[in-house]
Amino acid sequence: MSTAAIPSTQACAVCQQVATQRCSRCKQAWYCSTEHQKQDWKRHKQSVCDDAYQADQYTLHKQEFDRIIQRYKLNTEEKSSAIAEFLTAGEEGSVSAAQFAEKFGTTPEEAVVFLEWIQVGVKFKQQSIDVANKSGFAAAKR
Ligand SMILES: [Zn+2]
Ligand SMILES: [Zn+2]
Repeated sequence: MSTAAIPSTQACAVCQQVATQRCSRCKQAWYCSTEHQKQDWKRHKQSVCDDAYQADQYTLHKQEFDRIIQRYKLNTEEKSSAIAEFLTAGEEGSVSAAQFAEKFGTTPEEAVVFLEWIQVGVKFKQQSIDVANKSGFAAAKR
């Protein structure tokens, strides 16, 4: 959580007048009115908002992943090889969050977060095992 101070003067991205509201999705663009926010939405979404939002989600996801690892001590050698085994056991796409939750004692929600993270930017299976062994579990460092 950041404790960013609210700047005293913010200009509307459309008309440069004093802005009183900002994009609640990315919190980076300011507007004087809902009207101007709507007017600027397409441009803003493509140029700033989507990237900022995704970066934010990425960070949150990573934090949650780390928290789950710490909470269930999934970074021990025993656990990480059990997970690697679990991930390779199923056929493509058949590894489910419910199974993961049952096997490793997480909540189903945590299992989803965990498995989604494993899949971020990597092909599920071999590469995810690599990631699991090398970075994710190794020490749960960021
Ligand atoms: Zn405006
Ligand atoms: Zn935005």
